[in-house]
Amino acid sequence: MENLFLHPIRVLRDNYVWLVATTAGDAVLVDPGEAAPVLAVLQERRLRLRSILLTHHHPDHIGGVAGILAEFDAQVIAPRDPRIPCANRHVDDASRIGIPGTELEFMAIHVPGHTSTHVAYHGHGLLFCGDTLFSVGCGRLFEGTPQQMLDSLSKLAALAADTKVCCGHEYTESNCAFALGLEPGNSRLQQRAAQVAHLRAAGLPSLPSTLADEMDCNPFLRTDSAEIRASLSRDLPEDASPVEVFAAVRALKDAF
Ligand SMILES: [Zn+2]
Repeated sequence: MENLFLHPIRVLRDNYVWLVATTAGDAVLVDPGEAAPVLAVLQERRLRLRSILLTHHHPDHIGGVAGILAEFDAQVIAPRDPRIPCANRHVDDASRIGIPGTELEFMAIHVPGHTSTHVAYHGHGLLFCGDTLFSVGCGRLFEGTPQQMLDSLSKLAALAADTKVCCGHEYTESNCAFALGLEPGNSRLQQRAAQVAHLRAAGLPSLPSTLADEMDCNPFLRTDSAEIRASLSRDLPEDASPVEVFAAVRALKDAF
C-alpha cells in the first residue's frame, strides 16, 4: 500500500487522533478522543471513514466515537473490554483487521501495562501504540506491573526499526528533559531533544518518531544502558535486572 496519508489531529489538551487515508479517499481513525476537530478534517478532505481503531478504554481516547458515528457509518474495533461499549468488533493478540473497501490491514498486539486490555495496531510500517509507548517515554502503569509493561514494550521494540511510532500524546519535550537527566551523555538523545524543541517551537508535532529513534533515546527501552544504571546506582544494585531498572525509571518519572 503506497502513498498513505498519515496525519495527527490534535484534540483535547495534548492528545493525538491519528488519521490514515488512502489516495482513493478511504480513512481510518485511531483513538478519537473528541469528535468535532476530527469531523472537520474528514469533511474538509472529503474522506470516507471506514474504521475506527481504539487502543484502550480511557475517555481521552474513545470520547469522540459517538459523535463521529452520528456522521459516519464506520466499524469500531477495540479490545474486548466492557469499558468500551461503543465497539462492534473485538480483537485479541495477533488479530488481523482488514479495513472494509480498502487493501489496508492491521494487526492487533496485546500490550498490557497502562491498562489491562490495551492493544497496539501495526501495519503498513505504522505503529499506533496509544498510551503504551511514547516518544522517549512510556505510559503510566495504571493496571499492570513493571514486568508486564516491559514485556509489552519489548514486543513493540521487536518490530522493524523504521516503523513509524504514532503515540497518543504530545509528551516528547518533557520526556526528553527527564531522559537527559538519566543519560546526559547520550548524543542521539541530545539531538532528539534539540529536534523536538525546534518542532514544538514551530507549533509542529514531535511525532511520528521511529522505533530506531526510540531504541536510541527512550530510557524505558534502554535498561542495559551503563549511564542510566550509573544514574540509578543509589537506588539499585550493580547487577539489577532489566525489570528492576525499568521499575526504578518508571518510579522516578512518576515523581518528575
Ligand atoms: Zn490512557
